[in-house]
Amino acid sequence: LSVESAENSNYSFKDVAGNEEAKESMKDIIDFLKSPEKFTAYGARMPRGVILYGKPGTGKTLMAKAVAGEAKVPFYAMSGSDFVQVYVGVGASRIRQLFKKARNNKKGKCIIFIDEIDAIGKKRENGAASGSDERDQTLNALLTEMSGFNENNNIVVMAATNRLDTLDPALLRPGRFDRHIEITLPDICAREKIINLHLKNKPAGDIDIHTWSEKTAYFSGAKIESLINEAAIIACKENSPKIEDIH
Ligand code: ADP
Repeated sequence: LSVESAENSNYSFKDVAGNEEAKESMKDIIDFLKSPEKFTAYGARMPRGVILYGKPGTGKTLMAKAVAGEAKVPFYAMSGSDFVQVYVGVGASRIRQLFKKARNNKKGKCIIFIDEIDAIGKKRENGAASGSDERDQTLNALLTEMSGFNENNNIVVMAATNRLDTLDPALLRPGRFDRHIEITLPDICAREKIINLHLKNKPAGDIDIHTWSEKTAYFSGAKIESLINEAAIIACKENSPKIEDIH
């Protein structure tokens, strides 16, 4: 059994274009992770769990990493599908291991990120005896770990999903994942920022960025990143010194 160890995130909010409201909601979490004592002095219970929901490629993972980077805390990441195992009990044991590692981290605070939370947290079907034992055990282990947090555990669990409505209500109750933050597709301004962000480390020539931000309506951040990467590959193959618009 292996649980990924912590990484230090080098991302910050500067790397995330758009989603200003989501960033605003994240500021509480960052403040809490920076100085938890400030909140406990007021008897405030900080959100233990945050769900980021939205279409694939909109930057949910990026947002979680940026929060860890802004708060300067270790980042433990796993995907829901890592917990879905053939053998009953393996997923639950991985959850316990992950939380144990996180609780014992040197800084005394951290972010745990679980991508694709729906893989373990889908609504339980009525009277399900249909081999969903494993998922139930994993989900229960997660709920137990989160309920076991006390004032000394300055851990925030962030999870991502494309579908909030498919999640088990048990996950969404107060004290669990009680903050739900939507991560949206970028609007035209955000697309322009994303294009600029991803051109930064590339030789950009004469590119009409505004037109490209207009042309990429409904593109996710990930799709824009991939578009620019394709452009860089083409420029490279053609030995063109710069990435340029073809007129
Ligand atoms: P999700 O977790 O929502 O599927 P990711 O965080 O994995 O999306 O996004 C994949 C990549 O797409 C990011 O690493 C980044 O390069 C790019 N990207 C997505 N959204 C944004 C954004 N809002 N700003 C900048 N880059 C973005």
